[in-house]
Amino acid sequence: MATPPLLAVSSTTRRISRRIGGVAPSATLAIDAKAKQLQAQGLDVVGFGAGEPDFPTPAAIVEAAVAACRDPRNHRYTPTAGLPELREAIVAKTTRDSGYEIGPRQVLVTNGGKHAVYNAFATLLDPGDEVLVPTPHWTTYPEAIRLAGGVPVEVRTGSASRFKVTVDQLEDAATGRTKVLLFVSPSNPTGAVYSREAIADIGRLAAERGWWVLTDEIYEHLVYEGHAHHSMPVVVPELAERCVVVNGVAKTYAMTGWRVGWLIGPADVVEAATNLQSHVTSNVNDVAQRAAIAALKGDLAATAEMRSAFDRRRRTIHRMLSEIDGVTCIEPEGAFYAFPSFEGVLGRALRGRRPESTLELAEIVLEESLVAFVPGEAFGAPGYGRFSYALSDADLVRGVERLAELLSEVGD
Ligand code: PMP
Repeated sequence: MATPPLLAVSSTTRRISRRIGGVAPSATLAIDAKAKQLQAQGLDVVGFGAGEPDFPTPAAIVEAAVAACRDPRNHRYTPTAGLPELREAIVAKTTRDSGYEIGPRQVLVTNGGKHAVYNAFATLLDPGDEVLVPTPHWTTYPEAIRLAGGVPVEVRTGSASRFKVTVDQLEDAATGRTKVLLFVSPSNPTGAVYSREAIADIGRLAAERGWWVLTDEIYEHLVYEGHAHHSMPVVVPELAERCVVVNGVAKTYAMTGWRVGWLIGPADVVEAATNLQSHVTSNVNDVAQRAAIAALKGDLAATAEMRSAFDRRRRTIHRMLSEIDGVTCIEPEGAFYAFPSFEGVLGRALRGRRPESTLELAEIVLEESLVAFVPGEAFGAPGYGRFSYALSDADLVRGVERLAELLSEVGD
């Protein structure tokens, strides 16, 4: 008897669309989930996975939100693009912090920087348009590009260039279909910070080639000794007509949970992205917008305090990781991530196993030492691991000591 064609899935019976079915789950969240599961069993897991500051949101910002909550005027929809006062505060903050002169119509307030990235790619890309993505890259970029129908083109960098992409590499990777260059400094996951000269060279190349640039400035205030943040459209003003800047309050003010970010772009792009957002999420939570106004109108004293704590932890983690046999680590220059290479450990014996990838190694380290880090595969960089140092000094030391102890057992 003929078998009925049960497995022939037509587009009318497919449960999940190809577009969404193809989205990779966030590897960062996967390791975090496993770590939390072990924690729930009462185990003392040290987590280097989370990409968020361990500090509470500064009290003045929280108080502004509490007051906003009590005022019924803040219980309503706001304009899709954001409260006019917040857009003005973003204009003023942008001039203050990076010297970029913009108008309020160039600002769209979004549900976090991540949503700004998504909106920007959805607004700029047609099917088949290519985006140059310096790699290692934050996990979200390729997914946001693909969801918009675009094609992420990885441009690989390594520790030899301190994970910084060069003009030559970008020229080699570009094709007639290149529409956008993704740029992020300071970088998640590598902590790389580009010099003003390098930004000028890359920005001028983009301007000459007629590429758009999406520049992610979410870590602008987290740069350490000898390094400074420079905004690409300020360094290369002719780029402004084809540049989208992504930013937000999450990392600067320890406000990851509040979900307020924004994009800055030419007015036509912002208008189009606002149309999109009006049908997807409408405005960002009103009270959170009020909190963001308080953050942006206040000073950067709390940020400076957090930065000095991160700086101290950065030195500690860099020193401790570098002391482990088989591990090499360049000194992070910004953000709050160290990105060591485990090449010297892979393929060797460890507790009866022989990890061939950092995916496998991360699993062993979590199971055997109760230390969670994100394998480089999540960022297009096998062989590496990402360690967030946004955790307490004591946990940081304890976690790296445990890792060192385990890796001291590596044999042939
Ligand atoms: N860009 C980069 C490079 C990030 O690391 C993050 C957060 N992990 C974001 C954007 C988004 O931040 P949020 O959506 O929390 O504002």
